[in-house]
Parts: sequence; C-alpha cells; structure tokens
Amino acid sequence: MIIKRYLIIILMLFFGSQLWAKEYTVSYLNSTRKDHLSVMEIEGRNFLNLYDLERIFDGSIKTDQKSQTIGLITFEKKCDFSFFNNWVRFGKHSYNLHDDIQVINGFFYVPDYFLNLCADKFFPDEVTLDDGSIIINFSSMQKYLIKTIVLDPGHGGKDPGAVGRIIGLKEKDIVLNIAKKVKAHLEKNLDVKVLLTRHDDRFVSLGDRTDFANKNQADIFVSIHCNAAYNTKANGSEVYYLSTAQTHEARAVEAMENEVIKFEDKESISRYTDLDFILYDMRQTEYLNESSELSEMCQKQLVNTLSTKNNGVRQANFYVLRGAFMPAVLVEVAYLSNKYEEKKLLSKDFQERAAKAIYTSIKQFINKYDKMN
Ligand SMILES: [Zn+2]
Repeated sequence: MIIKRYLIIILMLFFGSQLWAKEYTVSYLNSTRKDHLSVMEIEGRNFLNLYDLERIFDGSIKTDQKSQTIGLITFEKKCDFSFFNNWVRFGKHSYNLHDDIQVINGFFYVPDYFLNLCADKFFPDEVTLDDGSIIINFSSMQKYLIKTIVLDPGHGGKDPGAVGRIIGLKEKDIVLNIAKKVKAHLEKNLDVKVLLTRHDDRFVSLGDRTDFANKNQADIFVSIHCNAAYNTKANGSEVYYLSTAQTHEARAVEAMENEVIKFEDKESISRYTDLDFILYDMRQTEYLNESSELSEMCQKQLVNTLSTKNNGVRQANFYVLRGAFMPAVLVEVAYLSNKYEEKKLLSKDFQERAAKAIYTSIKQFINKYDKMN
C-alpha cells in the first residue's frame, strides 16, 4: 500500500513536471543576481516575451512604426525584429528565427531560437546557454546606480494648472519654486545629475517631459504638483505612481492632471493613442515596485515635514508617468483649492519644507539601491 502511494506520488511528480511551464534559470557572472525566463508555448513552438529578454539583458526596447520594427538594444548593440515575420537584423545581416514574431495583448514574443543566436553569434562573450540555464556576463554591473534625476515641475506657460480661490496662486509657479529647491538640495548633498523639464514659465507637453527624461537616461522621474478639488475642504498630501486609477478620488485627480492634453497640438495627442503607448504602459510596469517604494518614502516625508493630512500613496493613470522608463512618481504637495493650504503654499518656508521632504525621500531611495550594489 505504501509502495503504491509512493509510486503515485512519483508518477504525479513526473507528469506534473511536464505540465509546468518551461523556463530558463538566469544567473549573472560575479553577481548574486538571479532571474528566470519563462517560455510561452504557442501552437507547439517555444517563444520568449521580448520584455523579459529586455529585463534579463538589462536592455531597452524601441519600436519604429514606420519601418515596422521593434529593436532590442543590449550589450550596446541592437537586434531589430520585424513585426509579423521571422527575421532578426543584427549589424549588417539578417538571421532566420524559423518562426514569425507573435504579438499577443501588446506583448512581442520572439522564437526561442533567438537565444541560440545570442549565445552563438550575437553576444558569445556575454551570453552562455547551458542546459536550460542562461549565464550572463556583464563586464560592469551598474544597474542600480542612480546617477541622473529628472524633476518635473507640472504645467507652465499657457497651462497654469490649479489656481487658488483666495489669493489666485498658480500651481505652475509654486511647483517650479519647489522643484528648483529640490534640485539645489540634491546637487549640494549627493553626487547626482539633476535636470528640470522646465526652468521657467513655459509650456511643455506631457510627452516631451518623459521624452526628456528618457533621452537623458534618467534613473528617477519626479513630477511635482499641487492638488485641487471641488470640495474646498479637501486637504493634505498624496503621492501617486502609475496604474489604472483605483479610487474615485484618484480618478478625479487623474482627470484633472490629464486635462493639460487639451493645450497640446494634434500630433502630440496622437502619440498618446498609438501602439507605442501600449508598449510604454507595459514598460512602466517593470518599475512599479521601485515607483511604489519611492512613493511611500515621499508620502511619509511630506506628511511628517509639512504636518499635512496623510491621504496616502495612490495609484493613478497619469499620462506624464506613462512614458517614463524609470521609477516615476507624481507628488501632490497640498491643495490649492483649500484656503488654508493655499496660504501655506504661498509661504517660502512651506515650499522649502516641501522641497526638503521630496529631497529626503529621493536620498533614502538612492541609499537603499546603492546598498544593493
Ligand atoms: Zn498639476
């Protein structure tokens, strides 16, 4: 009886393992970092999610609608896949992947033969395939070094943002002051490069803000705002990171911050709706953990330093965060629509403390990730 039971367990383990999704284990030479790469079976063939490859190779992805290609840039080289066919271009040559690229729910899947090409032809020094495992050799591991921070003072120019009801204070002016103070603190105390999406009272489209951060290879993106609500009693601080808005209030703030799109030209509006944007969305999910951590740190600092009401960390779907390929948060310092907070926001001391709080949370975040190196 006991033997029979063991036999059943062994058989279950054997057949069960056949049903389990196949995956590669991923390890990194001279590093404790570990990962895995899932294999997706489509009509009996094995495929790899391009975004998983991007993650394990510390790469980046760029799509080109015109040439209908999606490029994976890794180890300082580029592999270009054509949408909907079986070729990958590397340097001057094209290589047959033996199966067409698949697009499912906005994700690109490439035939797993691509891994063989990586190990044999494209990156023989960096990628080794060994019986179900992948060994990656980065000569210099710098993934978590935070070197560049982009601060984004919301609104500007023709877009004033929220306007206070009593003094008529404009959000665009307050957030610019705060952003400049955060920059000063960061530059004085940390070895980082700090860039602002605007230095003066000018209009910058939402897409240009994240494009700027991406082009400058920012490691953190912080968008700074003041809140407003129809309910004049609403007050307090909140920090957002990207997702589909979770609560009624979050949705209202999201609608308000996304309003700025009405000031933008047709061409940039269309940018928010094409395939690229779906891809942006997917990309950002990679940094959700980091973004959520930074939000928590920032929220805590803000309410402690400003003694504002703690409205908590929230998730919302802000356009300005969607295109950022890095941990990205949106800070609502306090409510301009509340007469007490409008008065506070006018004060240089309050602005200075808000800046200090944002700076301190960025410092905490950097310290945490520096320790992981
Ligand atoms: Zn705003």
